[in-house]
Amino acid sequence: LSLSLQAKMSRPVQAQRLEGIDKNIWVEFVKLAATYSMVNLGQGFPDFPPPDFLREAFMRALSGENHMLHQYTRAFGHPPLVKILAQFFGKLLGRDLDPMTNVMVTVGAYQALFCCFQAFVEEGDEVIIIEPFFDCYEQMVKMAGGTPVFVPLRLKAPKDGKLTSSADWQLDPTELASKFSERTKAIVLNSPNNPLGKVFSRGELELIADLCVKHDVLCISDEVYEWLVYDGKEHIRIASLRGMWDRTVIIGSAGKTFSATGWKVGWTVGPNRLLQHLRTVHQNSVYHCATVAQEAVAQGFQRELELYGKPDSYFIQLPKELQQKRDWLVQSLDAVGMKPIVPEGTYFLVADISEFKSDVPDVPDSDEPYDSRFAKWMVKNKGLAAIPLSAFYCGAHKNKYNHFIRFCFAKEEATLKAANDILQKWKQEKTSP
Ligand code: PMP
Repeated sequence: LSLSLQAKMSRPVQAQRLEGIDKNIWVEFVKLAATYSMVNLGQGFPDFPPPDFLREAFMRALSGENHMLHQYTRAFGHPPLVKILAQFFGKLLGRDLDPMTNVMVTVGAYQALFCCFQAFVEEGDEVIIIEPFFDCYEQMVKMAGGTPVFVPLRLKAPKDGKLTSSADWQLDPTELASKFSERTKAIVLNSPNNPLGKVFSRGELELIADLCVKHDVLCISDEVYEWLVYDGKEHIRIASLRGMWDRTVIIGSAGKTFSATGWKVGWTVGPNRLLQHLRTVHQNSVYHCATVAQEAVAQGFQRELELYGKPDSYFIQLPKELQQKRDWLVQSLDAVGMKPIVPEGTYFLVADISEFKSDVPDVPDSDEPYDSRFAKWMVKNKGLAAIPLSAFYCGAHKNKYNHFIRFCFAKEEATLKAANDILQKWKQEKTSP
């Protein structure tokens, strides 16, 4: 007995930098959805398959002649993939890109983000994050020893009788400017934005760019939803604005681009002066990404380059289909009084649950934001899974924007119809005594 007591470690095992970042809302809500949901519009992934050309490319890579595709490839990106990404993004940005130094492949956009924070953020550095934000930004900044500084998008009052648009969430220029100081190392930009679906306008991006240049700040530009923009809206790359290329890392994801989130292929594009440090993090952590998936994604981009701007391009087709799905969900929600904010991009929208408060009454002084309790109640009692908007806020604003939930509409028609049925039935139960 005494031996085993001695063998038991008594010193703390957890590294200090993990303090306070152990919670993850996805773990909780994914589990709830798996346990209770009949219709899952929670986590962001399509329930329809990736395009045939991409699946075929994967199968060819897997079972073709070239058995070397089962082995390691180049650490910073499979050569065919970095080459085509350099060509593709070179065309989009109007500049010559070197596949070996201006592009790096990562395990999803998630690892790209991790590399950025580890590479650039020093103990005590501040990183500006626009709220609401994809939740890992905050935790990754903290893990790198930095301090996140939040600035909210503020929702303008809707015009009479009109549905609110994601464009009605806006930065206050003075407030944004007040967050920049000599301690600011970087700003994270996510356009199109998860969870709102906001697509930042040129004017908004210029405002951010001017502040970055003025204060010599880096921009980590998470553009994983770059192809998912609607109503003829244009996705503008902040790296293409004056003074920004040299200080911006663009982050992308084959998961979102080709509806294959499980493949976990992502990338970074930027100047070598920044990417060289991402390579250092990458070679000391993940080192290498799955070769077959990279080969297939390379072929997907090859096809898309050939079809660029043509009706058959997946980058044209996908947003067209998603726009229709968005409109269905907007209609379903609007019909039952769960007011949707119409997104201009991404496959998410947030909806106002205020009119449903009689079903899930508020608990004053509860630590848990109202929308979180509402989303849990909804999945348990109605079988419909969504994510509370407060999960995308930190601190002060968590309780200001606590009456919205986020839905993902990258779903089959049958799934959206099933969601509509649940909402309709719920509405009937509410109105009939
Ligand atoms: N950034 C944003 C804004 C996202 O929504 C996601 C996925 N939900 C990611 C990054 C991560 O992408 P990946 O799956 O390619 O790692």
